[in-house]
Amino acid sequence: MALKIWLNGSLVDEADAKVSVFDHGLLYGDGVFEGIRVYNGRVFELDAHLRRLYESARAIRLPMAMNRQELADAVRTTVKANAITDGYIRLLVTRGIGTLGLNPFVCKESCLIIIASRIQLYPEELYEKGMKVISATTVRNHPLAVPPQVKSLNYLNNILAKIEALDSDVPEAIMYNHEGYVAEATGDNVFMVRTGIVYTPPVEAGSLDGITRAVVMRLAIQEGLKVVEKNLTRCDLYICEELFLTGTAAEVIGVVEIDGRVIGAGTPGPITRLLREKFDNYARQEEK
Ligand code: PMP
Repeated sequence: MALKIWLNGSLVDEADAKVSVFDHGLLYGDGVFEGIRVYNGRVFELDAHLRRLYESARAIRLPMAMNRQELADAVRTTVKANAITDGYIRLLVTRGIGTLGLNPFVCKESCLIIIASRIQLYPEELYEKGMKVISATTVRNHPLAVPPQVKSLNYLNNILAKIEALDSDVPEAIMYNHEGYVAEATGDNVFMVRTGIVYTPPVEAGSLDGITRAVVMRLAIQEGLKVVEKNLTRCDLYICEELFLTGTAAEVIGVVEIDGRVIGAGTPGPITRLLREKFDNYARQEEK
């Protein structure tokens, strides 16, 4: 079924949802975005996603045409128009139409797009068996270059690492920052377990302030687990008991091998399983 796309203030048919070749989102990756889940007809953590979107926009001096409440309404309208009860929303704001020069300020109006669609999931088997990853040689963007906290349309840094993963026949790669500490995966945050303690790198290590990350940290604390934000090295990942990734699309997924080294018993460990189950229940619960 053809989708209805929100484009600059109204819903249009998918076939009519077009942007200009002079849009700086296309020409320069100049813009910001969010990926958001819909579970049981509810938009998951919408406030947190919108906060991050507005912060990303502010960081790159991208004016938003709507306030947060209006945007929340537009998201829900788009979800409804496409009868999505379980799916994925891609919300993007580009700098808009400009010239062939870099200058963002010649772009008079930003362009806002909301796509509400189904989601392509990793196969269930991958969650049961756990995934393999590699360490990328591509270093995560320096915080004074393209700040990793900004969810910008420019994902080349992550794409280069993803290519390394795919060249090695694994779905994901761990990215390290310019100091050699773990930053994140190409589209997910990283957690590890050692002596029963759950560790994740601080956002300053070069990761996105993941919404799933925050929910999982909260759920882990509720389960009585100790959660520590700390710089992690590649060696820490090699010797940990459990390793898992979190993200809107992947949710919580265990990692069982990194750079050919087996983690723990070679299957997703007990804490990974527990947090996956708790996340699943929390996200899909009927009433909050
Ligand atoms: N890091 C990167 C680079 C990402 O693209 C994403 C997901 N979009 C994440 C982490 C996970 O963030 P979230 O849980 O908010 O989806």
